Amino acid sequence: MTEMGKRLEGKAVFITGAASGIGRQSAVRFAAEGAQVAVVDVDADGAATVADEVIGAGGKAIALRADVSSEGEVAAAVADAEEAFGRLDVMFNNAGIMHGDDGDAQATEETVWDLTMDINLKGVWFGCRHGIPALRRSGGGSIINTASFVALVGAATPQLAYTASKGAVLAMTRELAVIHARENIRVNALCPGPLRTELLMSFLDTEEKRQRRLVHVPMGRFGEASEIAEAALWLASDESSYVTGTDFSVDGGLTAAYVTPE
Ligand code: NAD
Repeated sequence: MTEMGKRLEGKAVFITGAASGIGRQSAVRFAAEGAQVAVVDVDADGAATVADEVIGAGGKAIALRADVSSEGEVAAAVADAEEAFGRLDVMFNNAGIMHGDDGDAQATEETVWDLTMDINLKGVWFGCRHGIPALRRSGGGSIINTASFVALVGAATPQLAYTASKGAVLAMTRELAVIHARENIRVNALCPGPLRTELLMSFLDTEEKRQRRLVHVPMGRFGEASEIAEAALWLASDESSYVTGTDFSVDGGLTAAYVTPE
């Protein structure tokens, strides 16, 4: 760290899915770098716990309950955060689900498809729709949309709705990056590899399933949510000032691999 101080000093950040996993780690990490953090989640108690954790560590945070698939709730949360902090500089559209009944083209029920798209894709759109005007009012900012490595490579163990939603998040991110490039608004997608978080571990519920996944990761281990938070921190900060429209992979080498080490 430089004499200039903390990496997100003076910035106000909105993080969805912040009660758990990547969002939670990011809330704690960003606050430690000086950001004011809106901890947003459909799980109100979880969001309050994380906000308390941030405040307990000497940071600044507010907890806001919002279901990202509801445009009204997203709009209200963005307005609340902007009012509380007086500005908004970073939108981290991170909330997402992986449905246990998500499968291949035949097995995936329409209800599972729709729910996944509503949260993972429409939720990111709503975050951008209401976040972009707020960032513009602050003179620009950084949007980070959580996609996934499955937006880049296919798997024989399918989660078709999830994969389709993440591919669409990535495509939407690129287009928004181009549209808003001259407004000092950067838009990047974060593509995490398989992580040791609640979301994936409850999907890969046996040791055999976990080991089957790890075969494809050159580093031979699951990632940690904190490792994704470090990448998100860089994308949120001015250190990434010339970076927009990327599919930023943080995946232990997964998408680079053809054959992995024994
Ligand atoms: P997680 O399950 O630990 O956390 C997700 C959070 O999102 C939870 O707090 C949950 O309450 C919240 N959430 C769910 N639905 C919501 C809604 N409708 N509105 C608001 N909040 C909602 O998961 P995670 O691993 O931290 O995942 C975060 C993001 O990273 C997701 O978009 C996920 O798809 C993506 N991702 C995860 C992995 C992985 O292996 N875990 C890999 C690639 C991408």
